[in-house]
Amino acid sequence: MNEYDSNRILDLVKSIGYTATNNPSDADCYVLNTCHIREKATDKVYHDIGRLKKEFRNRKKPMLLVTGCVAQAESVEMLNREKYIDGVVGPQSYHLIPEIIKKIESNKNKNKINSTEFDVVEKFDTLNLIKNSSSKISSYLTIQEGCDKFCHFCVVPYTRGPEFSRSFSEVVKEAKQLVQNGSKEITLLGQNVNAYEYIDQTNTYRLSDLLVKLNNFKELNRIRYTTSHPKDVTKDLIQAHKSCDKLMPILHLPVQSGSSKILNAMNRKHSILEYHEIIEELKRVKPDIRFSSDFIIGYPGETEDDFNQTLDLIERVQFINSYSFIYSPRPGTPAPKKDTINPDVSKKRLIRLQAALEENNSKYKNEFLGKSIEVLFENKLDKQNKYFGRDKFLNSVIVESDQDLSGQLMYIEVNNFNHNSLFGTISNDEKRNFAA
Ligand code: SAH
Ligand code: SF4
Repeated sequence: MNEYDSNRILDLVKSIGYTATNNPSDADCYVLNTCHIREKATDKVYHDIGRLKKEFRNRKKPMLLVTGCVAQAESVEMLNREKYIDGVVGPQSYHLIPEIIKKIESNKNKNKINSTEFDVVEKFDTLNLIKNSSSKISSYLTIQEGCDKFCHFCVVPYTRGPEFSRSFSEVVKEAKQLVQNGSKEITLLGQNVNAYEYIDQTNTYRLSDLLVKLNNFKELNRIRYTTSHPKDVTKDLIQAHKSCDKLMPILHLPVQSGSSKILNAMNRKHSILEYHEIIEELKRVKPDIRFSSDFIIGYPGETEDDFNQTLDLIERVQFINSYSFIYSPRPGTPAPKKDTINPDVSKKRLIRLQAALEENNSKYKNEFLGKSIEVLFENKLDKQNKYFGRDKFLNSVIVESDQDLSGQLMYIEVNNFNHNSLFGTISNDEKRNFAA
């Protein structure tokens, strides 16, 4: 979502004559768009500011805005700690950035700027008037923001605010712009994307309605959505996986833990049994569907038995392309302060869990060898004759080619793989041996 927001910030500042540069030392203004989900993200912000100060040591200081969830959560603290920052702007007020830059430019505003209101309606009202200029083959499109679920470990409900769904027609309009710009794949985004619900005078629109609508766009090849919460996987959404042929057969459905006891302590609002039921229902309508997940290791109270249940779940669901993190205590969240897990125990568990995920991943990728997969190519890798694309399951695929493959949908015969990617050659054989 930060990538979507950063692109939209760029669209906004074009109106006041700013553009993006690839050369950091050229910049007149820096926008550090930040994430607050885990502690490390905050450290990275201060580290980046340190680098910036070095770069501009004997030169005029560039303007510096810190945006995103770190700015939202630590606004005053940041302005006090780091004088180099000219303003902090929260994720629901970044539509004000052109105004803020103008104020700082004219130096009328001697005080630092703190813009951290939750103006989500006003934000999208402003953004709806500005064309989305992203011309990426694979583009993101935010349809929903915020969260009302209040998992006990998570800062999102406090930094992004309550659940908000954008107007159905505005989302469709922006999707059309992206397709006109050349996008062949759209990923619909939300902190809880499947909680999307937009009500007008006549209808209630859900995520499934958007999927069906986008599925009819002729020039669009692929649709994805992320991140979904198990609690909001409704019947109509499951049905969309059957009826929308452009909806890709991989679902990121974070489970966090394989233990119902820990899920309960986290306030996830579902059990492991219910999670399995959702997976089975989706498999019934879409037999080739695969799942990816996020896992949190070492949540307070996690015993060896709880952790083993997470390993069992991984074995049973055979997740691919998943993310795992050691629990990071976040300020203001209600996760218990007692029963914390010794960091060495958490680290060892994380290593075991990642080894299990990796083992499944290589077993799974091994099955691709000698088979053909459909790849949507996105871009050329820097200064090489290699092109980067993704298969239906979001696996990264790299192929050498003299011809420009960007934007093309092609069959690739896989001949190698590593931890990150599949490698192959363009498959010309009419009698292709398709991967499952
Ligand atoms: N709304 C999504 C997740 C959004 S946050 C959902 O509920 O599934 C993305 C991921 O960050 C989470 O799935 C979780 O695994 C991780 N995360 C969030 N807070 C965390 C914390 N305090 N410590 C470690 N990981 C965390
Ligand atoms: Fe955070 Fe997701 Fe839980 Fe919302 S549902 S509180 S975003 S982890």
